[in-house]
Amino acid sequence: MTAPGTSRREAGDERPDGGTGARPAAARATGAAEEARRLDRAVAAFTALYGTVPDGVWAAPGRINLIGEHTDYNDGFALPVALPQTTLAVARRRTDGRIRLHSAQGDGRVTELGPEGPAPGAVPGWAAYPAGVHGALTRAGHRLEGFDLHIDSTVPTGAGLSSSAALACAVALALDGLHGLDLTGPELARTAQLAENAFVGVPCGIMDQMASVCCEEGSALHLDSRTPDRYRQVPFDPAAADLALLALDTRVAHDLGDGAYAALRAGCERAAALLDLPALRDLPAAELPTALDRLPADLAPLVRHVVTENGRVAEAVTLLHAGRTAALGPVLTAGHASLRDDYRVSCPETDLAVSAALAAGALGARMTGGGFGGSVIALVPAGREAAVAEAVTTAFTTAGYRPPRTLRAAAAPGARRLL
Ligand code: ADP
Ligand code: MG
Repeated sequence: MTAPGTSRREAGDERPDGGTGARPAAARATGAAEEARRLDRAVAAFTALYGTVPDGVWAAPGRINLIGEHTDYNDGFALPVALPQTTLAVARRRTDGRIRLHSAQGDGRVTELGPEGPAPGAVPGWAAYPAGVHGALTRAGHRLEGFDLHIDSTVPTGAGLSSSAALACAVALALDGLHGLDLTGPELARTAQLAENAFVGVPCGIMDQMASVCCEEGSALHLDSRTPDRYRQVPFDPAAADLALLALDTRVAHDLGDGAYAALRAGCERAAALLDLPALRDLPAAELPTALDRLPADLAPLVRHVVTENGRVAEAVTLLHAGRTAALGPVLTAGHASLRDDYRVSCPETDLAVSAALAAGALGARMTGGGFGGSVIALVPAGREAAVAEAVTTAFTTAGYRPPRTLRAAAAPGARRLL
């Protein structure tokens, strides 16, 4: 079990795709060439592993969430954006029912499963995600063949950028493509969520998977977790407003399987039951003060976070539709304060990254993802990306923390077939 905020990922986690800021045309062309080489390498690795060419390659991105944290399992709202970093699923259909799984970020071994398929909790380690996707589709009534899989990802793991959803969604899309299932985006997202919930054992909501599958380039995804099928695209183009969005990976590993997430989720469900509501999303902001008086001291702050956070999502959507991207800054910072003080899922590193980014001129900053480490996003004036990243790095070094890693956070496309 990982104690919140104490465990760090190893130096070997370092990946070569880091970069900062907005991307001019020349940089985009270089990025496209790099992606093409990456695709070739992944196909070559599959062929070397399995001695045959793949049927296809599918990609699914990681995500940052602009605002709306810990709201999805309360039937609430979120506003995620897909990252340019993706997980590639290189796959080939088999006819003998067997499943073979390998990841460039795994332990070097190929995990093999027989035609009986995976039982919940039976596959250890990372392979539980792809095996769980196969299991989830089978559970939904689809008759699947076996498959060979090679995974290669540029989404940092355990950084709050949702590498787990990128993995599960890439595999869901691959199995969909291999079998011609033609599932909708929300169906793919639900499949990937079920894989995490039932086969890996993480009781996550649906936000990460919806973001990975349904986000579009240049947009944030306005998600209502009660009716995920009715998601909306909201224009999000910080560069057009002379701004940039940074993701600062604190490199402090969180572990959402350690019970903290489940305890928070259970607390929210208990509060909703005490208030006689289907979910906390059903508590109108105007009734919050009365509700808080009726709740025990340990639950009241959770409810205050969820209700005010849903309000912040609505506010952010209104601002983006009005083209007031800079005004998003204070909304992000207020969201961080709520996660820190009410929901209590921040940690010294994320708090320091937020305060150092703000002191260096960021218009707003907040932790993104489940918490207990992970990444911080910062909305900064264009041209200030390097200065803000440097200020956070200096603050970390002074505090004795490992320097954070800065990633581009342009609004990239959602999951897709590449080959
Ligand atoms: P996050 O989703 O924020 O990155 P999680 O703890 O939810 O953090 O998921 C991280 C886990 O997902 C890893 O420990 C690993 O089991 C699995 N995972 C994600 N990407 C990969 C990958 N490319 N190869 C193998 N496992 C992966
Ligand atoms: Mg995850």
